[in-house]
Amino acid sequence: MRKGVFVIFCLLLVIGASGPLNHAFAANTFYDVGASHRAKEEIYYLAQGQIVRGNSSGYFFPDSYVTRAEAAAIIGRSLNFDGTQRPTTFTDVGKAHFASGYIQEAANRKIITGYKDGSFHPNQLVTRGEMALLMSRAYSFDASTISAAIQSLITKGIAQGMADGTFGKDKPIKRSDFAVFIARAIHPKYRVNYQATAIQEATVNTSSLNVRKGPSTNFDVVGKLNKGQKVEILHKVGSWAYIRTANMEGFVHTNYLDGVHQNDKLQEYLKTQTIIIDPGHGGHDPGTVGNGLKEKDITLSVGLKVKSLFQGTGFNIALTREKDVYVALSDRVAFAKKMNGDVFVSIHVNSGGGTGTETFYYSSAATNPYVEKSKKLAQFIKDRLIEAWNLNDRGVKKGNLHVLRENNMPATLVELGFIDNKTDVAKLSSSYWQEKAAKAIYLGILDYYESEGIELQPLYDRVQ
Ligand SMILES: [Zn+2]
Repeated sequence: MRKGVFVIFCLLLVIGASGPLNHAFAANTFYDVGASHRAKEEIYYLAQGQIVRGNSSGYFFPDSYVTRAEAAAIIGRSLNFDGTQRPTTFTDVGKAHFASGYIQEAANRKIITGYKDGSFHPNQLVTRGEMALLMSRAYSFDASTISAAIQSLITKGIAQGMADGTFGKDKPIKRSDFAVFIARAIHPKYRVNYQATAIQEATVNTSSLNVRKGPSTNFDVVGKLNKGQKVEILHKVGSWAYIRTANMEGFVHTNYLDGVHQNDKLQEYLKTQTIIIDPGHGGHDPGTVGNGLKEKDITLSVGLKVKSLFQGTGFNIALTREKDVYVALSDRVAFAKKMNGDVFVSIHVNSGGGTGTETFYYSSAATNPYVEKSKKLAQFIKDRLIEAWNLNDRGVKKGNLHVLRENNMPATLVELGFIDNKTDVAKLSSSYWQEKAAKAIYLGILDYYESEGIELQPLYDRVQ
């Protein structure tokens, strides 16, 4: 080896050893996970699904400890979250952070929480106890305390505890051990002394359905199912189900199974819930105008897109107007009340020289008693809109606005952006970005329901 080449080679090794572990590099082989490594099978299984990654030089660092950011990314990938890097609601996780998308999505879904001061501590090490709780939330093991979460991992053959008989809940966890836990949570074959039992029966609704080794299309196909075939569901990982037939086991996406979303209790509940969307202005009232645009057209377009997102979810959805007609403010509120609305979202566009997105709620219980819920709704929708459009974050504000004040349900008014600002108009005028705003409003409403304890996982999966 010539000296120059050797120096570069050494440099690469050094950079490799200290560089970030999460660059998109799907390795077939990690130099530091050899044939005799105790976690070899689990690590390579997760690597096939691109759930764990090494660095760009092919090192996995099995003995490094897992940070909160890494845990969010690994769990998020296992659930097929949209990991697109984006601004977050945490003070110490910027858009440029490799895990910003996963952290925000995991926070939105209440899998991981930040600290009271608004920070996330992405580089803090995860303890084994915290990991148990994260996994319980992520994979719906239904434990709400660390000790219950540890117990559920042990019951399911995912954890065995440490040699001294304890779980070591306050100890940090190595990447190799974390990989073993995640692989076991996903695939029963890695579990210890665990006999899987069927939780549900379902029917394949498409022809030639691929059955895969793991819960994403990154995993190898292990077989095919035909339309009408019956399968037993043993467990779910996000929107994928681990299924069994007489001669096959593996993962399929639940979209291709009939009978799987029939969570009767939830459907019964959703039937009782009505979302009211209020596209501002209309008819002889254009709202604000600028750059060749009229507020009334933008609000209607976004409102109709929100409506179509909610169709088929089980929620009732009603719009105060679906055409270019004038509706008085009092009639909008009267309509919402008549429909027995449970959530009210008014959509507007701003003007006057500013830039960015903001939401409003009414802060006196004297007329609309739902102050706290309205504030929460305003916050969730604002956060989702900032994620979606990435405009200036003008925050959640108190507003004495008729449709909020005179209402009797959790209510927020959304100002998408400024019709007289170039940056904002690029989004406001585009059908593509309007669809993104509609999704943000849809997701913000789901976040609101989740915060009320309603588990809506399948409804998130519809738009991701
Ligand atoms: Zn308006």
